[in-house]
Amino acid sequence: MREYFRNIYQTVRTILIGLRITLMYCFAKTTTVQYPDVPPTSQPRFRGFHHFQIERCIACEMCARACPIDCIHVEKSATRRLDKKTGTVTGGAILRYAIDYSKCLFCGLCLEPCPTQCLHMGDIHDMTCYDRTTTTVEFTELAKQGLRTPMPYWMTTARPPEWAVAMRERWLARGREARELMLKALQEQPTPGKGADQAAAAGP
Ligand code: SF4
Ligand code: SF4
Repeated sequence: MREYFRNIYQTVRTILIGLRITLMYCFAKTTTVQYPDVPPTSQPRFRGFHHFQIERCIACEMCARACPIDCIHVEKSATRRLDKKTGTVTGGAILRYAIDYSKCLFCGLCLEPCPTQCLHMGDIHDMTCYDRTTTTVEFTELAKQGLRTPMPYWMTTARPPEWAVAMRERWLARGREARELMLKALQEQPTPGKGADQAAAAGP
């Protein structure tokens, strides 16, 4: 009989230990954030949808290889090179740079090996959409619009909340200064002096 009650005690005790955190939250004061009327608070190291500086990308695919679930797609027309002194990239064009966010874990592993540090975790938390095809973000298409980050659908509507208008302006400003360079990344850029060097090597 004693053993019987001891087993009951042990069962209840271990369940309560397992639920300790849950129970604490059951009695904690609740807070409701009135999103989207009120902006959500994200921490400085929050990992949201990527912020991509396409004009610095050399399409080396190191990020794609580091990705544990192969959700980054990179295509180029030829090798691209970064001149560290001038910060300009020459060579082939970036034909496609896309991330499939239906798979992305937001682990940030793709950032680590990037030799030009052009890929960053952004501060966008929301990418609601109507169908699965739009979960793949084509950053090359965004670059044509001067965008470095995808824009949540609701933010493109006529009357987003006031705080969202300010945020949208911040995101647009990120790409505005480098618009020309972003467009150049989508086209082949000859390496300065390369043609002359080749001509000299070929001789008269
Ligand atoms: S983002 Fe960085 S690692 Fe990825 S292809 Fe471009 S340069 Fe290479
Ligand atoms: S954050 Fe992680 S899962 Fe997402 S693209 Fe980068 S490496 Fe892949």
